Amino acid sequence: MDYLLTEEQQMIRNLCRQIAEEKIKPVAARYDESAEFPWDIVKVLAEADIFGVSIPEEYCGMGGGVLEMALVTEELSWGCGGIALAFGGTGLGSFPILLFGTEEQKQRYLPPIARGEKLAAFAITEADAGSDAARIRTTAMKQGDHYILNGTKQWITNGGEAEIYTVIALTDKTKGARGASAFVVEKDTPGLKFGKKENKLGIRASATREVIFEDARVPEENLLGREGMGFIIALKTFDHARPGVAAQAVGIAQRALDEATHYARVRKQFGHPIASFQGVQFMLANMAIAVEASRALVYSAARMIDSGARDIAKPSAICKTFASDTAMEVTVDAVQVFGGYGYMKEYPVEKLLRDAKITQIYEGSNEIQRNVIAAHLLKESAARDE
Ligand SMILES: Cc1cc2nc3c(=O)[nH]c(=O)nc-3n(C[C@H](O)[C@H](O)[C@H](O)COP(=O)(O)OP(=O)(O)OC[C@H]3O[C@@H](n4cnc5c(N)ncnc54)[C@H](O)[C@@H]3O)c2cc1C
Repeated sequence: MDYLLTEEQQMIRNLCRQIAEEKIKPVAARYDESAEFPWDIVKVLAEADIFGVSIPEEYCGMGGGVLEMALVTEELSWGCGGIALAFGGTGLGSFPILLFGTEEQKQRYLPPIARGEKLAAFAITEADAGSDAARIRTTAMKQGDHYILNGTKQWITNGGEAEIYTVIALTDKTKGARGASAFVVEKDTPGLKFGKKENKLGIRASATREVIFEDARVPEENLLGREGMGFIIALKTFDHARPGVAAQAVGIAQRALDEATHYARVRKQFGHPIASFQGVQFMLANMAIAVEASRALVYSAARMIDSGARDIAKPSAICKTFASDTAMEVTVDAVQVFGGYGYMKEYPVEKLLRDAKITQIYEGSNEIQRNVIAAHLLKESAARDE
């Protein structure tokens, strides 16, 4: 398929595929096993200016948008879905600043992110507030020219490794979701601590930690937007970031298809390559159809967002849901093509299956995405009847 990428977009994609092939693929299994944070790969990405692709040029970035972010994420995830998340989590943490930061906040925080000197993270989830994010309990109480943050955020990607955290906390506990606000919190803030690193099924090279606030003193100039805008900021952030999760899913699924196709050519049973059996061919063909359809959805949602379109929640949710469901199906099929070898850690496909699963869960589970899609459908239908 020709997605009519510009020369610059093709260059970004090719560079990231080269990094994935040469630098990430050879170490992916080791990081999966050790669950260490891949700082050496982060350095490679920083040297190649990858962290700046979607940051405007005036803040030391390359001036790209969501499509460029998706191209990078897809290719890095082809190498390893977990390692790619050092980039993806930083994008998620940067969006609130990009979309709602003042000029001063952008000048302060975006250039070191673009240069890959500092990673970012986004923190909304708590133990009792996952899909029901409005139930967060972390508070941010104004005291003079500071906000005092108290509470614990759970499962924060890049937690403990990132220097910059965008955090949603309640500035008014009586107002529920309308009482939430967004803050930039720097790692060296007094009172900011990190909990244990989670031991996960997949994306094991990604750090997932608690982020704990114990009377953390955050200067008032670190408030993003206005008090009470926290949930609007979170929702807009997810609308922009979900094509990134979808791109992660496409990268993982493409790798599973590539591995399965190669294996089907070289594995012989009954005196023939298993690729000569129609049952296997149909499986590969169905995988290819689903991967390509996912990619087309991701790029088209990303382009729509980059065009400045207002109603992006539905296309963003559609591409995230379809691509992540596809990644799960395709990685399961890839293990099937490999037969018993697919179940073994010596072969790459069981890791792809484990890595794919998270894309159906985070940044809003696929059930929540379907709620979003249905709500928009019903609203659009009602508007047509008026
Ligand atoms: C590895 C990892 C990394 C993460 N990174 C981050 C991060 O960087 N920052 C951050 O803030 N959070 C992060 N999260 C949190 C993630 O976004 C949440 O796990 C996710 O939103 C789901 O919340 P939950 O796990 O509490 O599930 P729950 O909300 O408890 O849901 C459990 C099940 O019920 C279903 N369900 C819930 N409500 C409904 C409904 N109304 N209708 C239908 N079904 C429903 C869900 O779909 C799910 O299947 C991460 C999580 C993981 C596992």
